[in-house]
Amino acid sequence: VSRDPYEKEFHQAVRDLFVSIRPVLMKNTDYIKYNILERLVEPERLITFSVPWMDDKGVVHVNRGYRVQTNSAIGPYKGGLRFHPSVNTSIIKFLGFEQTFKNALTSQPIGGGKGGADFDPKGKSDAEIMRFCQSYMTELHKYIGPDIDVPAGDIGVGPREIGYLFGQYKRLRGKYEAGVLTGKGLHYGGSIGRKEATGYGVIYFVQEMLKDLGETLKDKTVVVSGSGNVAIHTMEKAIELGAHVVACSDSNGYIYDENGIDLATVKRLKEVERRRIKDYLDEHPHATYKEKCTDIWKIPCDIALPCATQNEIDEKEAKRLVENKVMLVAEGANMPSTTEAIGVFLYHNIPFAPAKAVNAGGVAVSALEMAQNSSRVTWSFEQVDNMLKEIMKNIYHDSVTAAKDYHKPGNLMVGANIAGFTRVADTMIDLGVI
Ligand code: NDP
Repeated sequence: VSRDPYEKEFHQAVRDLFVSIRPVLMKNTDYIKYNILERLVEPERLITFSVPWMDDKGVVHVNRGYRVQTNSAIGPYKGGLRFHPSVNTSIIKFLGFEQTFKNALTSQPIGGGKGGADFDPKGKSDAEIMRFCQSYMTELHKYIGPDIDVPAGDIGVGPREIGYLFGQYKRLRGKYEAGVLTGKGLHYGGSIGRKEATGYGVIYFVQEMLKDLGETLKDKTVVVSGSGNVAIHTMEKAIELGAHVVACSDSNGYIYDENGIDLATVKRLKEVERRRIKDYLDEHPHATYKEKCTDIWKIPCDIALPCATQNEIDEKEAKRLVENKVMLVAEGANMPSTTEAIGVFLYHNIPFAPAKAVNAGGVAVSALEMAQNSSRVTWSFEQVDNMLKEIMKNIYHDSVTAAKDYHKPGNLMVGANIAGFTRVADTMIDLGVI
């Protein structure tokens, strides 16, 4: 805190993890002896760089690019790129820190990293996006590679951006290294099922939680925030399994449709036409639109799935969900609940699952994409989806077991943090102080 006093999101992520792992530190003093905590909070490398680009009118702009290479104990750095005006060192470091333990939970051979830029893709033309991605990669390519660091997408970075980034990387390197990025298009090394993986994985995890409660998704009322990659595929799988998804949002506001959200409309608006969620009302005038996106948590629901961004549920909103008798909360976005909000859920014994466990399906399938790239094979949707289901089941059971072992039965927050931490920390000890 004294070294980087303004990095509040990073401090929040570190504090939430360190509080959970206290009993582990008391049991195994090697973690103290090898100073694991201090080594974990200092990223192995933090790169910042300028990204100059020209808009369609010939005006030159400059944004700040980032890549944090947090921890490489278990494998090459792995984590997405975020293009959003809110990106700064604190956001990138918190995401890289979370990613390290999430990746460990998947049991795949991947370390943790994250990157992005404070660039706002909204309202930019396709040509502007392409020039920005090319400029960003012109600097980033020096630090990445299939066995070094493998970025992917995140907020503001989808298939289009990954294509432009990959094209520029290929041109700069003068060779075809498919394994340098994941989330690629299917014609140039992408994995079938990667696009759906994070959202489907969220629901596979929720299914495991519900099983232990003697419940299923059928006829449950579900609220999902966001309307990007994670939200759309979370809604898709939930609807397929018989849930009644009644609301979703973007950063301007949320829609409520008591008949159930028409996902085809949301997909077209967001994935094809790149419009705002309020335009849903043009085709569904019976639905309602409200401008404050966080008010989505006032809608009564059985299951709340925050899938938009960090700190979108605070203490007040968590209390409102509890008053409205929410039966389960699972985080699709990274760190969407504040520390206080998590406290409310745990205090009221609401089954709560943290992001690093719930949304790990995306990066797990990214690791499967890397495996396909290096062995030059292509797996079917069914193969990938089955592996994803298995991985999500394992993450759930590993988290449940760790929570039980440390006398916090049912606390998935503690369980996931302990399971992820011990895998990274034990490997760091095995590798020596380097
Ligand atoms: P997208 O860019 O596809 O979608 C993000 C969505 O969240 C958009 O609907 C966006 O609305 C909304 N949003 C962004 N900022 C805010 C805000 N301040 N308040 C309310 N809504 C907001 O990103 P993803 O779906 O890929 O990512 C969503 C979350 O999931 C992030 O936390 C990301 O880190 C996490 N995640 C993503 C993975 C992936 O595979 N994509 C993997 C694991 C985690 P608008 O269009 O108005 O900006």
